[in-house]
Amino acid sequence: PSSDAVPAATRVIAIANQKGGVGKTTTAINLATALAATRRSVLVIDLDPQGNASTGLGIDRTARAVTIYHVLLGEATLAEAMITTEIPGLSLIPSGVDLSGAELELIDFDRREQRLHDALDGAVAAFDYVLIDCPPSLNLLTLNALVGADAVLVPLQCEFFALEGVSHLIKTVERVRHAFNPGLELQGIVLTMFDRRNNLSEQVAADVRAYFGDKVYNTVIPRNVRVSEAPSHGKPVLIYDVKCSGSEAYLGLASELLRRERGLPPGPDGSEPGP
Ligand code: ADP
Ligand code: MG
Repeated sequence: PSSDAVPAATRVIAIANQKGGVGKTTTAINLATALAATRRSVLVIDLDPQGNASTGLGIDRTARAVTIYHVLLGEATLAEAMITTEIPGLSLIPSGVDLSGAELELIDFDRREQRLHDALDGAVAAFDYVLIDCPPSLNLLTLNALVGADAVLVPLQCEFFALEGVSHLIKTVERVRHAFNPGLELQGIVLTMFDRRNNLSEQVAADVRAYFGDKVYNTVIPRNVRVSEAPSHGKPVLIYDVKCSGSEAYLGLASELLRRERGLPPGPDGSEPGP
């Protein structure tokens, strides 16, 4: 294998956790922005009917004529739904409100769990990374993401019952592996909204590391008000305020991800090694 940093093939990573408000969307758009900043070409797929990833990347509803809904229903190709964002190297497949009805509409379709997989097949070769922002449930949409992905990245908020919640997701990943996608990996677990002053945060983080070992990223995303302000400006926090602690953390997360993708151990602080 060459020592080149760029992976040869497109990597499709589903960002999933059936709990809402744990940082899936924030992680999807900021990890995507940080990867794009390292000159990777990145596609974000907004698979949540709420469309927060689309809004957070500055694409408002009026600009979303063709969405992932039409792609899943077979009414449009992925290319037809694709939008170029203002961030160089970062494209988006937007979501629309009609996506909430897709689950029912797909019931009678052939290969309903493989609709996204089939749409991606051969259509994303130009991208280094495809990040799928999943809805907050283990429904048919999330199933489509897991069937279409190479790996799943799980944002975990450091709060009570965090581990119980994630065990459902891990079981679902195992089921998907068995039934549809034997190659599906657990890419990693990233601790989000970490509050250093809160003992519970520390305790939950320790429990999660004890349970999942080195699957847990060294990089921890702190709770940071700039992160929560950014979406209302239609910008990833990395564009809104590149110097804040949240932005720093997402840059660290991206470099740790790139190391992990190359099979290297994460640096002491999750960073890439010097030259
Ligand atoms: P999910 O997609 O899992 O539902 P979001 O990424 O939308 O979660 O995050 C839920 C809320 O928490 C949003 O309002 C978001 O702006 C905020 N948030 C996410 N990460 C952070 C953080 N590190 N610091 C502060 N607020 C955050
Ligand atoms: Mg979300």
